[in-house]
Amino acid sequence: MTAIWSVDSDAFLENAKKVKNQQPMMAVVKNNAYHYGLEFAVKQFLKAGIDTFSTTSLKEAVRVRELAPNATVFLMNAVYDFDTVRENEIHMTLPSLKYYYEHKNDLHGIHVHLEFENLLHRSGFKTLDEIQEVLQDHQQNSNQDKMIISGLWTHFGYADEFGVPEYDHERAAWLEVLNTLLDEGHHFDLIHAQNSASYYREGQVVLPHHTHARVGIALYGSRPYSSLDEEVIQQSLTVKANVIQVRDVQQGDYCGYSWAFETQNDNTKLAVVDVGYGDGILRTRAQHEALINGKRYPIRALMMSHMFVEVDDNVHAQDQVVLYNEDMRIDEYTFKGVGANSEQLSAMNHDSLIKEYR
Ligand SMILES: *Cc1c(COP(=O)(O)O)cnc(C)c1O
Repeated sequence: MTAIWSVDSDAFLENAKKVKNQQPMMAVVKNNAYHYGLEFAVKQFLKAGIDTFSTTSLKEAVRVRELAPNATVFLMNAVYDFDTVRENEIHMTLPSLKYYYEHKNDLHGIHVHLEFENLLHRSGFKTLDEIQEVLQDHQQNSNQDKMIISGLWTHFGYADEFGVPEYDHERAAWLEVLNTLLDEGHHFDLIHAQNSASYYREGQVVLPHHTHARVGIALYGSRPYSSLDEEVIQQSLTVKANVIQVRDVQQGDYCGYSWAFETQNDNTKLAVVDVGYGDGILRTRAQHEALINGKRYPIRALMMSHMFVEVDDNVHAQDQVVLYNEDMRIDEYTFKGVGANSEQLSAMNHDSLIKEYR
């Protein structure tokens, strides 16, 4: 018996189509497509009619290019391996004025998207003035073989925060930059800003003048914020393990390493389950339940390869123990404080779990 990580391919595709909502979409496939598998995800997204992808690593961008020869591939991090970017026709962010002046000659023939920094402060031009400076310098650059300005973009850091003004601020600052540049007559083939939270906050449509929404987590079946209905986004992932044996313990018995769980009642039944943090179950997840034969039972201790679940007479050796499925969703536990959706997805150990696509 080994715990299983499994994805229902049809459900994944159906969700992607539903999220896309016939809007132009750039699928974010960073970190091995949120750990759903880069190759699997790109193929499903192509089937869903998505032909534009973005990631943070050049290695992944090159792999996407192989998988999708005709797609637009956008690299959200600036890199210094200019030849690889050029040879693979990868679009790349232009992350600062300093980078531009240091590398404008290296960037010849490369499609760049000017990035506006905004509240996240991770990357991008600080002000409209800086962007205008680049546009002007570029226009005056008489070099025949120079970089190609193809896009304009930003990233929102607060789209999943409600009851605070930050999202409205970053949204307004961005639209001001965008509209000013468009009013000045500048044109960009690609304009993109919205992550999943922003996309849904705006009514599951792209903002005016934008060519794409740049969506990640929703495409992978988790809701970016809790007030969204569960039906709107559907999870295709199941993570399940097995009951190895059920043990009786008595009041006062300490179970697990170093007094992990103190038994409260006599004749308590603990199911020993073959999954643990070594398989990627977050420690915070163990403060909640596991689903056995359709019923939720409390997890009592988490170890590297095992967990204890307190059960009743209805649970037996070899029963399946669900940690995540369509009824026990990653996002449910995110909203209970376990950690970001992407954090739990990223932690899954694909080497120790059996990995299958159904
Ligand atoms: C991860 C990421 C996204 C996607 O965000 P989700 O919340 O998963 O939709 C979009 N843009 C950038 C720059 C990112 O790093």
